[in-house]
Amino acid sequence: MTGNGRRLLDLVRLERSVSIGEAADRTGLSRATVSEVFNGLRHHGVVVAAEPARSDTRPTGRPPQRFALNPRLGVAVGVEFEEGYVRVAVSDLGLTVLDQRRRSLPVAEDFEAAMDAAAEMTVQLLASAGADRSRAVGLVVSLPAPVNRVDGVVHTTTILPSWAGRRPGQELWTRLGVPVDIDNDASLGVIAETALGAAQRYRYVVYVKVSTGLGCGIVLDGLPYHGAMGTAGELGHLIVDEDGPICYCGSRGCLHAYVGARAITEALRSTPAGERLFGAAYTPDERLEMVIQQALVRGDPACQRIIRDGGHRLGIALASVCNLLNPECVVIGGVLSKAGTLLLDPLRDALHSHTVPLTPIRVEVILSQWQEQAEVIGALAQVLRGPNPRFRERLYALAGAAAA
Ligand SMILES: [Zn+2]
Repeated sequence: MTGNGRRLLDLVRLERSVSIGEAADRTGLSRATVSEVFNGLRHHGVVVAAEPARSDTRPTGRPPQRFALNPRLGVAVGVEFEEGYVRVAVSDLGLTVLDQRRRSLPVAEDFEAAMDAAAEMTVQLLASAGADRSRAVGLVVSLPAPVNRVDGVVHTTTILPSWAGRRPGQELWTRLGVPVDIDNDASLGVIAETALGAAQRYRYVVYVKVSTGLGCGIVLDGLPYHGAMGTAGELGHLIVDEDGPICYCGSRGCLHAYVGARAITEALRSTPAGERLFGAAYTPDERLEMVIQQALVRGDPACQRIIRDGGHRLGIALASVCNLLNPECVVIGGVLSKAGTLLLDPLRDALHSHTVPLTPIRVEVILSQWQEQAEVIGALAQVLRGPNPRFRERLYALAGAAAA
């Protein structure tokens, strides 16, 4: 591929579609050069004609011709590990999910089995999508733990005990021969919601995931924020009561002890609802889902109360986050988001009454569009739009092969 071909391919990789005028403005190339390169790429099936954008609405005349990456040029793979399951999804390069699967597995306790299952499911899904491994641009892994973004080592002895010191990216690369990137689950959730979900029109977004874990993903001025070591957004360990219960992190009174799936379900243990919850070997996420069902469908008062209390606690904690970061929008995701307005109403009240009213515009608090799929959708989006140079090289190679 020529240098100009790569620059324009990069542009359609990052944007849904571009017109010749926009591409000329963004790259500094002449309109004639952009037009010539795009027509060549289109002839070889690397890009395709795209629908007009919303910004193209003009009173008269035809909207400008737009180009997008050919969705069928390759595929992306997203893998989500949670304490009790692995989920794998394969999408085309338009980020339409072609197929996905979820398998229950003791992920936290058995690193090798988790790696084997993810590799096997990826091979099966690629086959069912009719795509050879060589057509996979990359694979992004979502983990419910902090990850060192430089060396890819998992630094946790508590959330995923058998994973401490291991390199899941290296293991999956060895098994599959597809380049791999690792990211934290809530960091991928915020990418799903800002790129393809409920927060597309905002540039300053905090996404909160409340499932077994409790974390947040942050986007500032349109860019994901990970912090110096990649551990920003550990909302679950925000101290809400210095004398509160001891947390697995070694601190006391962490938010996690009040709002996470375990805290919510444990508080119901001695109620009639608790007998059903703890009568069988469910995971914390499954128990939380049952609590939400009993609150919404059966109107169980104890289940309703614990969700409302959780919303209130979360709202107060998020008020501090909002006072610090001043986001336009807070997106509530994870299993707890399925409680809808039962959670959201007390959360909004607590958040708005504890945020500093410096502007007349209050922060929007909305529910996740993707719910428990947010992490895997964010992973797919990062294959295409993330900064990994090996993903870019694979895409150039696929485009070069199409043009050969
Ligand atoms: Zn803690």
